Amino acid sequence: MHDDIQEILLSEEVIQNKVRELGKQLSQEYEGKNPLCICVLKGAAPFMADLVRRMEIPLEMDFMAVSSYGAYTQSSGVVRIVKDLDTPVEGRHVLVVEDIIDSGLTLSYLLELLRGRNTASAKVVTLLDKPTRRTTGLKPDYSGFEVPDAFVVGYGLDYAEKYRNLPYIGVLKEEIYSV
Ligand code: 5GP
Repeated sequence: MHDDIQEILLSEEVIQNKVRELGKQLSQEYEGKNPLCICVLKGAAPFMADLVRRMEIPLEMDFMAVSSYGAYTQSSGVVRIVKDLDTPVEGRHVLVVEDIIDSGLTLSYLLELLRGRNTASAKVVTLLDKPTRRTTGLKPDYSGFEVPDAFVVGYGLDYAEKYRNLPYIGVLKEEIYSV
């Protein structure tokens, strides 16, 4: 285990089993719909890469970047598009792939934006959900795990751009971000 990690919340094996399960479920739901899977960069990249390989149906991928926490651990409430989609979404079944939903601000904004572009459907799959932190009415359509109100890193999730490559999800030692 990495020295900066206090506790592993979800092991690599537990994550991969869940991703397999979600992939199977989504394959059934999106059969014949050629969904456009939208990865919200950068945190959702490992989840997206694993998930699409467990979806055994034709699909397309695209990537979007929005401003989020940066080096801080609290949402600013300001969402800015840093990189927009390359694919037109009108009439498409879009599936937004997220790493974690906290306040829900980022996703509420994104869904509104996508629906405004006349998608056939716009749903959300998130690996992690922190429902106790929600300030919006947003509920993910598909969710991997509920996590407690702690700042987590690994499997795409960063602190100041570090720890994204850990294969597990863990809680960072408090001294790392209190300095
Ligand atoms: P929301 O808009 O739902 O408050 O925040 C969503 C974004 O905040 C996520 O995509 C992620 O980038 C970041 N975030 C929220 N909670 C955590 C956390 O516990 N750890 C990390 N590393 N990022 C988080």
